[in-house]
Amino acid sequence: MAEVTELPLRKDVDPELTWDLTTIYHDDSEFQTDFENVKKQIDSYSKLTGTLANDAQSLLKATTAILAGARLLDKVYVYAQLKNDQDTSVDKYQSMLAQVSDLASQFSAATAWFDPELLRLDSQKMDQYYEAEPKLKDYRRFFNQTFSLRDHILSDDVEHALALSSDVFDSGEKTFGILNNTDLSFPTVTDEEGNKVKLSDGVYGVLLESADPSVRRQAFKKLYEVYSQFQHTLSATLTTNVKQHNLKANLKHYDNALQAALTVNEIPTNVYQNLIDVVNEHLPLLHRYVQLRKQILGVDELHMYDMYTSLVGEQSPRYTFDESKRIARDALQVLGDDYVSHVDEEFNQRWIDVVENRYKRSGGYSSGTYDTNPFILLNWQDNLDNLYTLIHETGHSMHSYYAKNNQPFQYGDYSIFVAEIASTTNENLLTDQLLADPNIDSNLKKHILNYYLDGFKGTVFRQTQFAEFEQFIHEQDAAGQPLTASFLNENYLKLNQKYYGDAVISDDEIGLEWSRIPHFYYNFYVYQYATGFAAASTLADKVVNGDQRDVDAYLGFLKSGSSDIPTNVMKKAGVDMTKPEYLEKAFAIFEERLNEFEKLVTK
Ligand SMILES: [Zn+2]
Repeated sequence: MAEVTELPLRKDVDPELTWDLTTIYHDDSEFQTDFENVKKQIDSYSKLTGTLANDAQSLLKATTAILAGARLLDKVYVYAQLKNDQDTSVDKYQSMLAQVSDLASQFSAATAWFDPELLRLDSQKMDQYYEAEPKLKDYRRFFNQTFSLRDHILSDDVEHALALSSDVFDSGEKTFGILNNTDLSFPTVTDEEGNKVKLSDGVYGVLLESADPSVRRQAFKKLYEVYSQFQHTLSATLTTNVKQHNLKANLKHYDNALQAALTVNEIPTNVYQNLIDVVNEHLPLLHRYVQLRKQILGVDELHMYDMYTSLVGEQSPRYTFDESKRIARDALQVLGDDYVSHVDEEFNQRWIDVVENRYKRSGGYSSGTYDTNPFILLNWQDNLDNLYTLIHETGHSMHSYYAKNNQPFQYGDYSIFVAEIASTTNENLLTDQLLADPNIDSNLKKHILNYYLDGFKGTVFRQTQFAEFEQFIHEQDAAGQPLTASFLNENYLKLNQKYYGDAVISDDEIGLEWSRIPHFYYNFYVYQYATGFAAASTLADKVVNGDQRDVDAYLGFLKSGSSDIPTNVMKKAGVDMTKPEYLEKAFAIFEERLNEFEKLVTK
């Protein structure tokens, strides 16, 4: 813990290494003015209710008024959030963020009438509107996103009842969260240095990376002793969650909960099915990786708790922030001068909050909105992981930059489905660039290949395993199968054995893993990590090994924002995610790098 006290205070950080939030608001009083402006906008919305059916002008007026309010709300939100994250100990910014969150709730409540009222306009009426007021055509897709759900909107009474009962529906997830984050009490375990540490989810993750097998084993056994005691409660909370998805899907005339969840995000269900099918076909590659892990670790028995310890030793190559910027810039040069000129803006015009200071929010992210720079928060350390984080977040920020500069506000963002693609593509471009160096030393090469293989394992294989289980439990519940703890344990263990193969001993404890994974409460969300990672592998390959048309197509994807449905946006980039080929391509790259890694570590 000594390190924590050595962190600088925010005021002592070199301003050149902080983000420049005066580009959003010169000072807090400018923020206050806009905050009041959003309030005024919200107050004006009540006059617009009941007007959409009047005429085309009224629809245009209401739409532009609401979008203008949303745009300004985004701006005040981002300012308050970033101010708070840079130093979470400042009361002023804590309350500023709380006020803005409250303002956002007021905004939602004041505009809740819009969609139901819009849905009362049939397609004939909309055609007349577009004819009478051509400016409405700029919002056609925006309206169509609501209209596409028309068959699944119930009568006002039922929708109202569902809205009122949302707290009740969420009780499974809430109870799980409280139990998992607060009430569960974990024992102390002994770490590598012989210190007693209290187990938690975070500490568990660190201990599983330990080089000492007895530390990993102890953490694993102790953690699952606790979850085992609560397995029946946890099967009940998960059941509640699954049942509410199935009930809503049924009420809203969907075939199943999977279709209900994906339709809202405009994703065809075969995207999900293809992922599971193609990953299953390629499980022998994961089995090979697991076998190699066993060999490198030199153990007689490999357990699931041996899956996270490093295969390449501790000494990560070191990179300073300045070196990292130079390497990232070089790796991104393949995307062209225009792209790199914006990366230079990011690097040289203080879009990045670089170093760790006391009370700064941990981790790394890219955040911004239509009227701000796409800022980046880092907690810099001189190592390979941070070089990857820098280029990853740069991918997010460039995606945001291109989207907002090429689309109107209503299409100037991007959907969750494509959100991790630009960032992961950048990581792959870095991997390609580093590996292409003919003078690369073998230690660095090992670290890079290991980073890639670990990422692929943790994202494509593991998230698909979750996605497969998620689909399975929803189907089983719909078929009348009670989701008891023993049923879940047995089937999770089977699935885990299928994924990791015979080289790993399947301890009974791993059957309980379902009980501690928050993602099973996310409603068919995690598959997007896997599809995004695979698409990014394919895209980077096209950019590096293709021609100018591939680069242009890629930039076209960044510029598209949310102006089309997500799978169409990806088609513009040259990846058809409704077909299995992009997944096949990603596995081919994984196999190639697995071969290389195998050669390097076994020679
Ligand atoms: Zn990301």
